[in-house]
Amino acid sequence: MPDFLQLGIRKEINYTLKSLGMVTPTPIQERTIPAVLEGKDVIAKAQTGTGKTLAFVLPILEKIDVQSSDVQALILTPTRELAQQISKEIKRMIENVEGINVLAVYGGQDVEHQLKKLRGAQHIVVATPGRLLDHIRRGTIDLLSVKMFVIDEADQMLLMGFLPEVNKIIDEALSSPQTMLFSATMPHEITTLAQKYLVEPEIIEVKAKKV
Ligand code: ADP
Ligand code: MG
Repeated sequence: MPDFLQLGIRKEINYTLKSLGMVTPTPIQERTIPAVLEGKDVIAKAQTGTGKTLAFVLPILEKIDVQSSDVQALILTPTRELAQQISKEIKRMIENVEGINVLAVYGGQDVEHQLKKLRGAQHIVVATPGRLLDHIRRGTIDLLSVKMFVIDEADQMLLMGFLPEVNKIIDEALSSPQTMLFSATMPHEITTLAQKYLVEPEIIEVKAKKV
């Protein structure tokens, strides 16, 4: 079984993973990390608790250009709790890495605070669809430089009625980034979304037990 280093993750992050007791990639990580590093669009279907967060976070971190102050990665999640959790996980992963900035953008949070943060360099934005669309329409966030785009918990997005917002964000603010879609189940609305926006996606399905 390959370790994270062999999958292409830098040693500083591998060290952090190890210190947290994460030595062996989960099956979804083992298959998703190389595909994302190769620049492929990905559809990943795996149940909750199989390690999907790091499956997209780790390769994204490898592809961030810290010399640039543009937003390079956008991660959409259905809930503010999940947005907070993912940004926390990213911050934990870059403890030993210089120069990568992450911002969580979600409803219920002070807009002034978000605006202040948005004026600085933010390489990765983790957001819920509604609040992000507010920022897009106010012109307070520029996402044209986004080259990596993740839709996390796509089936939950659908259940919560966020697919129209997701479509608007893609149509109005993004310029054909590499796209990764993660979901525990694949209702036809999600397959349709994937067919509309993903280009020759690698389809990764894992029926593994939880970590
Ligand atoms: P999912 O998004 O598939 O529901 P998460 O990404 O939230 O799953 O991961 C579930 C749990 O597994 C988290 O507590 C995470 O820290 C842990 N985890 C993720 N990858 C590994 C790994 N390679 N080894 C051990 N634990 C891991
Ligand atoms: Mg998840």
